[in-house]
Amino acid sequence: MSQSILVIGGGFSGITAALEAAEIGEEVFLVEKSPYLGGRVMQLNKYFPKLCPPSCGLEIQYQRIKNNKNLQVFTLAEVVSVSGDVGNYEVTVKLRPRHTPPSSVDLSGLAQSLSQDVENEFELGLCKRKPLYMSAPFAYPYRYVLDTANLTEEDRTKLSKSGQIDLNQQEKTITLQVGSIVVATGWKPYDASNLTNLGAGRIANCISNMQMERLAAPSGPTEGKILRPSDHEAPKRVAFVQCAGSRDENHLSYCSYICCMASLKQARYLREQYPESRVDIYYIDLRTPGRYDHFAQETLADENIQAIKGKVAEVEEDVASGAVWLTAEDAISGRKLRNSYDMVVLATGMQPNLAQETLPLKLSADEEGFVYESDNAGIFPAGCAVEPLDVMKSAQSGTAAAMKAIQTVRGR
Ligand code: SF4
Repeated sequence: MSQSILVIGGGFSGITAALEAAEIGEEVFLVEKSPYLGGRVMQLNKYFPKLCPPSCGLEIQYQRIKNNKNLQVFTLAEVVSVSGDVGNYEVTVKLRPRHTPPSSVDLSGLAQSLSQDVENEFELGLCKRKPLYMSAPFAYPYRYVLDTANLTEEDRTKLSKSGQIDLNQQEKTITLQVGSIVVATGWKPYDASNLTNLGAGRIANCISNMQMERLAAPSGPTEGKILRPSDHEAPKRVAFVQCAGSRDENHLSYCSYICCMASLKQARYLREQYPESRVDIYYIDLRTPGRYDHFAQETLADENIQAIKGKVAEVEEDVASGAVWLTAEDAISGRKLRNSYDMVVLATGMQPNLAQETLPLKLSADEEGFVYESDNAGIFPAGCAVEPLDVMKSAQSGTAAAMKAIQTVRGR
């Protein structure tokens, strides 16, 4: 029986599960695919319940990780095989090379000297990055990473001459023996380009709610100024389209839980930055569970924020002005509405990463890709791998999974 625990996924629930288990004395391995920990929370401007920036919760977690000898973190790491059974799993993990020095050496000058610009995935396509880059603001580990797939020959030569980059680093595999596994593989925003009537990916000033978080974040591409992408003008009239892909049999059949709250929060971002701005929120049902109801009431008390009950049928673009036209039916009056906005935000839903990716594990999942706990295994799903959750509930779910994993390795 191995006493060790593997946590797959370094987002908020995975970090919480790993820390809870490590701080009680178990040996824990935390495996994260991307170059940094923190998951989707890292991309938010502010998060519930306190509306604090991600740094306020995550930096404490990073400190706890640094101070804990029981916890080993592997970033750029992927589980490629799992054999064995509860209490005795053998796990193979592939480690991709980072190519950069092991300390927080400032490589910004070298990065800027490279010729290629590629899409910045952390900023959700709102700006570009260099192939040598810091993957996220206040990233953990705080180290540059090199994306060798996007290097020109000239850039390769420059990097190897710099003496700071090791282009010869190779992929490695390691083997871990663990007694139980926490699956905290998280979520991604639903691909809004599937919603062809709503114009995402086609209309410059029609953005997703996660892009809005990056525009509002001081660490984001506009340093926190919410500007519309086409001309970098301040948007004065903004519409939010709720349930963009969620609660729709053709896309995600379930309610994504967080997106009504996200739009209300983002309406406040706009009103705080632009006191003369007006916001319309088009909704089918406005879902603000538990104590969040109060937040909704306070937000909607602002006379410049209007909630319109009605499903949006179409979003169109006026290319010359950059305006976005929105067609909807007002469910209360029955009237057809056609209104023009400076910018439209789609409240796109949460899709579990495992809807499109697989893990080499025997997992029980529903048709949408959400994982549930199976009877026989020492494998415990957590966070948004299980269902759409907010950050606080993700942490609670991570703690619950850690408890079950500890009980398993202790044979109880
Ligand atoms: Fe729709 Fe709101 Fe549910 Fe999101 S939280 S799917 S916007 S009802």
